[in-house]
Amino acid sequence: KKVIFSAIQPSGTITLGNYLGALKNWISLQDEYNCIYALADLHTITVRQDPAKFRHNTLEAYALLLACGLDPEKSPFFIQSQVCTHAQLAWILNCYTQFGELQRMTQFKDKAAKHADNVNAGLFTYPSLMAADILLYQADLVPVGADQKQHLELARNIAERFNGIYSPTFTVPDGYIPKKGARIMSLQDPSKKMSKSDENVNGYVAVLDKPEVILRKFKRAVTDSDACVRYAEGKDGINNLMGIYSVVTGLSYEQIEKDFEGKGYGDFKAAVGEAVVEHLRPIQERYADYIKNKDYLEKCYTEGAQKALAISSRTLNKVMKKVGFVSKA
Ligand code: ATP
Ligand code: MG
Repeated sequence: KKVIFSAIQPSGTITLGNYLGALKNWISLQDEYNCIYALADLHTITVRQDPAKFRHNTLEAYALLLACGLDPEKSPFFIQSQVCTHAQLAWILNCYTQFGELQRMTQFKDKAAKHADNVNAGLFTYPSLMAADILLYQADLVPVGADQKQHLELARNIAERFNGIYSPTFTVPDGYIPKKGARIMSLQDPSKKMSKSDENVNGYVAVLDKPEVILRKFKRAVTDSDACVRYAEGKDGINNLMGIYSVVTGLSYEQIEKDFEGKGYGDFKAAVGEAVVEHLRPIQERYADYIKNKDYLEKCYTEGAQKALAISSRTLNKVMKKVGFVSKA
């Protein structure tokens, strides 16, 4: 079986963008592949976190992923900071990553502009830690949203470079990016991607938002003055809503345009909101059970970390030998 690795940051509450762009795939790939999944909490501290909120977000994300259908028996599911090989390989890969390569990353430019008071070295080297995450497990495929494409490309370059300097060490990973839902945009500014760390809570829909909140956020979604439900250039807001509606209902754009012919945006936004509420309802119900069961969560992430350490240590040991570190007795 081919190996799949993917991770999500506990940097806020998980959004519909995360779910449609990546997590839905995480779940559906579990039978066909050897999947390994993680909460990338080391990445999260590239932006300053409130400790109590950070801890809460991590446990919430863990329980939510189980509620989405992640089966920790099938797919090891761990918390990155509990597996020491990630930080170790990241340091080594930093020395095989060029300053100029990191400087070109659009996520770095966006986040540096947004957090101008804390443009730390970790924010800059985020992609080499992400490369370490993926390469440690010799992943063949990485399911991510379109926003991570550039980072994945860099991970491939780092792997090829290292393999070229020494000898084949890392599997060069391919992306697994869904056609629809790859890039869900903010409901308040459809030129920006939906992001869980957005300080404007109306910009995103959280998977755990209450039904009335979801309906309200869609009702307030920014559209245009055209007042016609159709997919077209320059209609970013409507295109985004149509994209979301299409993935959760399975309807094509043509069908949606037909169904809403002669109807206004108000009707359409309400329909999108209701479809999303129904789509998320079973996940929210299962989440409520998992989050109460702290002992079960602890057992799952502890076992996940043990499995991840065993697999990733094999790669790290190989790397260290090739680079020329003296091995421990
Ligand atoms: P942050 O703002 O803290 O970076 P985020 O919402 O971008 O949070 P990440 O943890 O960086 O979330 O990414 C988790 C996964 O969700 C990745 O696979 C990423 O590609 C995907 N993803 C993030 N935002 C979107 C989006 N708007 N549309 C589709 N997929 C997304
Ligand atoms: Mg992100």
